Amino acid sequence: MSLTLTLTGTGSAQQVPVFGCHCGACQRARQDSRWRRKPCSGEVRYNEHVTLLDAGLSDLAERWQPGGFQQFLLTHYHMDHVQGLFPLRWGVSEPIPVYGPPDEQGCDDLFRHPGILDFSPRLSPFMVFDLQGLQVTPLPLNHSKLTFGYLLESAHSRVAWLCDTAGLPEKTLTFLHNNRPDVVVIDCSHPPRPETPRNHNDLTTVLALNQQINSPRVVLTHISHQLDVWLMAHALPEGIEAGYDGLVIRLP
Ligand SMILES: [Zn+2]
Ligand SMILES: [Zn+2]
Ligand SMILES: [Zn+2]
Repeated sequence: MSLTLTLTGTGSAQQVPVFGCHCGACQRARQDSRWRRKPCSGEVRYNEHVTLLDAGLSDLAERWQPGGFQQFLLTHYHMDHVQGLFPLRWGVSEPIPVYGPPDEQGCDDLFRHPGILDFSPRLSPFMVFDLQGLQVTPLPLNHSKLTFGYLLESAHSRVAWLCDTAGLPEKTLTFLHNNRPDVVVIDCSHPPRPETPRNHNDLTTVLALNQQINSPRVVLTHISHQLDVWLMAHALPEGIEAGYDGLVIRLP
């Protein structure tokens, strides 16, 4: 029994390198692909079963065969988190369940023309459900569209996926404090800012949140090129690390 979370993308909607940008982080990513950041997404493997967390990667059809994964788990319907579903829906396979927040609009015409995607699973805040033995709790986040983070829980470990968000609603914060995750993967789009950010966390906000959550390992994701530039000149505090595309997080 083991739980593995692979970060398949750790960038924002802009990604890194940013089209036309010549900052230090974008130049570095052009020279060395290890510094590239694709849209924020993950792959959860629990025993033999695979859940794709968000669908912002544009080449899902090349990465996967039908049956290679069991379902999608979506945080919200912004384009950088669902754009990979648009070509995939016209494929040939058994219906693929798509779990996500009960957003009436979704994104563009996905609900009207779902193709092989099955959007019927409806999630409610804090209502635990089961994905092939993995316990999942939807956690409301603060974002410009209805957004859920998730606590993923096996018999031995807990990992929280909190993206996209600016701060956290009080109930979500209390829940995470009471169910302390071994690892938190969290939106940190911006370097430290004087003002409280509106749609995405900056580093100051993430540090303040973890004062209350108390997770021993915090992995930053949804990273902008501005944060990458900041990281080239600053070290992160103990227990906080910048995620990167391909990072594998193993839990018991
Ligand atoms: Zn996003
Ligand atoms: Zn740049
Ligand atoms: Zn978003």
